[in-house]
Amino acid sequence: MGGKIVVIGAGMGGLASAAQLAARGYDVTVVEKEETVGGKARRVMVDGRPVDGGPTVFTMRDVFDGIFQQCGAKLEDYLSIRRAEVIARHAWSTSGSEEERLDLFADPVRSEEAVGDFAGAQAARLYREFRHETRRMYDILNEPMMRGDNVSSPLPLLWRIGLWRVGDFAAMRPHQSMWKALKGFFPDPRLQQLFGRYATYCGSSPFAAPATLMLIAHVEAMGVWMIDGGIHALAEALRKLAEEQGVRFRMGTAVAEVLSERGRGARGVRLADGEQILADAVICNADPNAIAVGKFGGMAQRAVKPLAPGKRSLSALVWYAHAETSGFDLSHHNVFFSRDYAREFAQIASGEPPSEPTVYVCAIDRGGHDAIASVPAHGGRERLQIIVNAPANGDTHSYPSKETEQCTANMKATLQRCGLTLEADMPHQLATPAEWERLFPATGGALYGRASHGSAASFLRQGPRTRMPGLYCAGGATHPSAGVPMAALSGLLAARKVDADLALTKRSSRVATAGGTSMRSARTGVTG
Ligand SMILES: Cc1cc2nc3c(=O)[nH]c(=O)nc-3n(C[C@H](O)[C@H](O)[C@H](O)COP(=O)(O)OP(=O)(O)OC[C@H]3O[C@@H](n4cnc5c(N)ncnc54)[C@H](O)[C@@H]3O)c2cc1C
Repeated sequence: MGGKIVVIGAGMGGLASAAQLAARGYDVTVVEKEETVGGKARRVMVDGRPVDGGPTVFTMRDVFDGIFQQCGAKLEDYLSIRRAEVIARHAWSTSGSEEERLDLFADPVRSEEAVGDFAGAQAARLYREFRHETRRMYDILNEPMMRGDNVSSPLPLLWRIGLWRVGDFAAMRPHQSMWKALKGFFPDPRLQQLFGRYATYCGSSPFAAPATLMLIAHVEAMGVWMIDGGIHALAEALRKLAEEQGVRFRMGTAVAEVLSERGRGARGVRLADGEQILADAVICNADPNAIAVGKFGGMAQRAVKPLAPGKRSLSALVWYAHAETSGFDLSHHNVFFSRDYAREFAQIASGEPPSEPTVYVCAIDRGGHDAIASVPAHGGRERLQIIVNAPANGDTHSYPSKETEQCTANMKATLQRCGLTLEADMPHQLATPAEWERLFPATGGALYGRASHGSAASFLRQGPRTRMPGLYCAGGATHPSAGVPMAALSGLLAARKVDADLALTKRSSRVATAGGTSMRSARTGVTG
C-alpha cells in the first residue's frame, strides 16, 4: 500500500490503529507525550510496587486476538492470560452480614445459583431472562454498531440491522432508561443496583442511560480475563507487535499542532519542540475535544465539534494503595455498594463527589498468575486500586487536600460498612478529576468521552473521520464507545477509513494527472 501516517497518542486506540496500518504496509510513527504506552492503561508506583493505573476488567478478548492475528501473531505468545472464574464479588451493607455478598461467575449456572441463594428462586429465573435479553441486545448491535461504522441517527442503524427486523430495534429499548428497565426486571433493589452499575463502564448514570446499555452485562458474562502484569502489559504487547510491523515510537514527545495544507487537509504534525513530521494522514488518539478547543492548533480546531461540559461522562477518584486489609475475603474484582444509588448520581450530576460512594476495589495480588501467593494470609500489605465515580470538573475545580481527605474518609466508610477495613495509614496516591484533566487535556477529567445519556447519545459520538480531510479520531471518546476493547475497535475503524480514503486519493490522483485535479482537492471530498 504505502503512505505515511502519524498517530498522536499511544493509548489502546492509537496502538490498534498503528499496528493495523503498519501490517497493511504503511509507514507509521506514533508520537506519545508520556514516557510509556497505554494512556489510561498506565502503571503507578506506590511504596515501590507497580499498581494498575486505569482499566483492570479485561473483556472482549477476541478484539485483541483479531489484531494480533491480522499481524500474523498470537496474543498468548506475548502475554500470560487466563479466564477469571469469579467475575466480581459484590457487597451491600443493609445488614452488614455475609449474606449480603454475591459473586457472579464465568459459569452462568453458578451465577444463577448464586443469585437464587442471594435473592430467591424468582430472582434466579429473572436473572436467566435478563441474561437472554442482554445477549440478544449484544447480538443485534455487535456487528452493525460496535464493529461497524459510526452512524449519526437510528435510521441507518435500522438499515444495517435490517429494516424488516424492527422488533430487534425495539428490543434494544433505546427510549427506556436503564434504571426503569432494571426495576421492571428485578424486584430486589440490590440487583437493580448491581446491573445498573454497568452504565458506569462507559461513564454514564444508570438513571439517564438508555436500557440498551444493559448489553454491557452480557459483555462481562462472555468472559473476564486476567493478564499477568495487568492491562498495561497488553499495551506493551501491542507496542511490541506494532514495532515488529515497523512502527516507530516517539515517546515523551507532545504534538503541538496538526499541520494542514492551505487550510484544506492534514499533512502531518508539529511537535512541541518545533520539529515537523509530514504525513498523508494523522490519527488523533487524544480526546477529540482537545482538537475542538484548539490544543492541536487553529487549523484543526474546527475539525471536531466541542463537547459541552454538561455532556461529559463520569470522572473518578482513584486511590492506588499498598495496604493491609481485614474483615472481608476479597476477590480480584470487588464492588461495595452505597445505600442510596439515586442520591449518589444526583450528587455527581450536581458537581460533587458522592458523600456515600459505591466503591470498586481491585485486589491486584489476588486471583491472577502473578498474584503474590501468600497474600494477606499473614496480614501483609497488598496492592489495591480503588475507584469512586466523580464529576468531570477537573478543569474548573482543584480538589484541595481538605476535600480529598473527606473523599478518602467517605470511601473507607462504605468499605467499613460492608465489612472491609483498610490499614489507617496506607501508602497511597490519589488521582482526582484534576489529575485526569492534566493527563488527558480538554476532558475535565471525563474518562469516557461523551456520556451515553438519552436515546441519541450513541449517535452523537465523534466518528473516525473529522471535518478536516486527512485527520481522523480513534479512542474511547470516539465511536463506538469507551473501554479497552471499544477503544481498540475505534482504532481499527480509523485505520480502515485511512486505508480506504488514501486508496481513493491515489486513484483520484491518477485520474487527476490526466484531468488536471490536484491530489489534495480529491481528498477534500471526505467528510466526517
Ligand atoms: C481508572 C480507570 C479505570 C478503567 N477501567 C476500565 C476497565 O476496567 N475496563 C475497560 O475496558 N476500560 C476501563 N477504563 C477505560 C479505558 O481505560 C479507556 O476507555 C481506554 O483505555 C482509552 O483508550 P484510548 O485509546 O482512548 O486512549 P487513552 O488511554 O485516552 O490515551 C490517549 C493517549 O494520547 C496521549 N496524548 C494526548 N495528547 C497528546 C499530545 N498532544 N501529544 C502526544 N500524545 C498525546 C496521552 O498521553 C495518552 O497516552 C478505565 C479507565 C480509567 C481511567
